[in-house]
Amino acid sequence: MKSTRRDFLTTAATAAGAAAASNLAGAENHEHGHEHSHQVVPSDMALRVKSLESLLVEKGLVERAALDALIDTYEHKVGPRNGARVVARAWFDPAYKELLLTDADKAIAELGYGGTQGEHMVVVENTPAVHNMVVCTLCSCYPWPVLGLPPVWYKSAPYRSRSVIDPRGVLREFGLELPEDVEVRVWDSTAEVRYLVLPQRPAGTETLNEDALAALVTRDSMIGVTKVPDVPQGGTA
Ligand code: FE
Repeated sequence: MKSTRRDFLTTAATAAGAAAASNLAGAENHEHGHEHSHQVVPSDMALRVKSLESLLVEKGLVERAALDALIDTYEHKVGPRNGARVVARAWFDPAYKELLLTDADKAIAELGYGGTQGEHMVVVENTPAVHNMVVCTLCSCYPWPVLGLPPVWYKSAPYRSRSVIDPRGVLREFGLELPEDVEVRVWDSTAEVRYLVLPQRPAGTETLNEDALAALVTRDSMIGVTKVPDVPQGGTA
């Protein structure tokens, strides 16, 4: 599947029409021996997006090229790797960590990250005594410049409501069982303030350099629903 988002949107409406006229069920299973790409019926959401985009373009409110550039940025250039670099620097450099915890915007900008949906960042540190996790109870506020676009579950109603009602239960479902004496703090991101968790540096990473540390950091650990796992003795990243 090499088609781009633009190809997909261009063919989406056509395919929907074709689907109405013929039964495409099982189309993916038929014998091959010829060169063509199969078009499955786009989802309601894809069609709605296509309609909305066409309307906005038609009315001159947005340019297709600008939209493509924006999507491309968040699909390919911005993502959790940025946040991982921030975390790794904080683990590696105590002065940077101090700055990150006191003036996150400045510290994150030092690594070249910032902009839309990341203007007012607060970084909260996980310790042996405190575990932080992040939610947006109202919608899906999320620090795009350091984590990219939010995962589907982050935007789901169950995560948004249950994170505040039963955070330990939610963490358990992510595979994280916290001892009773560890305090859980839940931070509610908003349009004004977005939170990033600084996970605990795992054991067994004392000899790793910054790049190797960054490779260990996962998106979910920076939302606070998991930890960064310890590195087995003798293992390297
Ligand atoms: Fe939100």
